[in-house]
Order: sequence, then structure tokens, then C-alpha cells
Amino acid sequence: MPLPVVALSSSSSSPTGGKPPFVRVNDAYVRAVQGAGLLPVVVPPSLSAADERTLIDSVAGIVLTGGEDVEPARYGATRFATTETSHAGRDATEIALVHAARDAQRPVLAICRGLQLLNVALGGTLVQDLATERPSAISHPRSDLRSTRVHGLSISAGSRLAAAADSLVFDVNSLHHQAIDALAPGLRASAHAPDGVIEAAETTDAWWVLGVQWHPEELVDDPQPWDRAIFAAFAAQCRGPA
Ligand code: MN
Repeated sequence: MPLPVVALSSSSSSPTGGKPPFVRVNDAYVRAVQGAGLLPVVVPPSLSAADERTLIDSVAGIVLTGGEDVEPARYGATRFATTETSHAGRDATEIALVHAARDAQRPVLAICRGLQLLNVALGGTLVQDLATERPSAISHPRSDLRSTRVHGLSISAGSRLAAAADSLVFDVNSLHHQAIDALAPGLRASAHAPDGVIEAAETTDAWWVLGVQWHPEELVDDPQPWDRAIFAAFAAQCRGPA
């Protein structure tokens, strides 16, 4: 059986230091997807909606990767000073990819920015800066600790995430300063941090979509079964019925 092909969303750099601009995706996503028995292809952040409708017929699933803050105007908000520079082409490409995936009923695994982008693409809103808007005892933007578990989670029983991870409580890394605020229609929260921040969301209908706010692909120093289980559950959906 050929491996199912899955599309990984990507970012691109501005020209710096005399180097030409390049398309990039962190290798951790590539390794995690390959480790789950999938064949990754990188989707540049510059495709038209028409190109993406063509692409969607050639792939078994979509991985929305982490990265830049989504443009606040996309969810009707005014930009905070603490909101990172957004990538207009990437936002447009990924929002169209979500809509194409929904139309074609392709499974979607959304990670960090991917979860936030997914929520915006489906009509939800974001907390632009947790430290400002939702101060708590937990520091979520611990990008200095990529492979360290910095807070716990409580998983909603009966959720797709609970089924995938086979556990209702586990510890994760936290490399984000934004989070879901209002959930989009058709999404439900399936995990929360102890301070109430939404750490995972999923669709309520038959379209298989799972979004996580943490980075399971980076948790390689002390791997736990639930880290790889999230990719395995996505891979099973990409393979389809046995
Ligand atoms: Mn967190």
C-alpha cells in the first residue's frame, strides 16, 4: 500500500541577510508525520483557492502547522501591540485550505497557530495575548522550553482527543501567547489548561478535525504514548477504512 500523502502548511521568510526568501516548515512536523506512516508534502503559503481545490483531491489529509499570529482583522479585532507581524499570504492560503478540506471532508490535524487559524477560518475569535487579557499563574509562552512539559491538561471525556490519546490527564509543552476566545460554530473544546485556557478543539460532526494548542511533535526528549497517539489517530483517518 502506498503511504497516504498529507499536506503540511508552511511559512516563508522575508529576504534577510542577503539570502533569497525561502519556504519553511519545522522538521519536527515532517518527522512526526513520517513516523506515523504518512508521506508529507509542503504547501507553500502562496496558493490560490483554486489551486487548493486541485490540491485537496491529491492528499489524504491536512496538517496546519504552528507559526505567526493570525491577522486580527480576520476575526474582527484591532491589532494589539503584542501581536506578532502576520503573514497575509499564509493566512489566506490556510483559511482556503480549511474550507477546501471541509468541502472534501479531508481529516485535519491543527497544531498551535494551526488550531487558532482553524478557529478563525470557521468563524471564531482569538485571545491576542494571554498575559494581557487572561493573566494567570501559568506562563503559556514558554518557547524557550520546546520539549519540556510545563502545564497539565484536563481532557473532555468522550471527545475525539480522549479517544486518540487514551488518557484524560496529561502534561504538555506550551509555546503560545494566543489562544481560542470564542469557539467557531461547529467546534467544541476538548481540553483545557488548569487556568481555563482552551488547549484543544475538535469538530462536532463527522468531519474529522482535531486541533491542539501544544506541540506534540516537539515532545521527543521524554516521549509519552499520547504524543505519538495524536499523529497515529490522524494517520488512521488518512488511511481511511481498512
Ligand atoms: Mn498552554
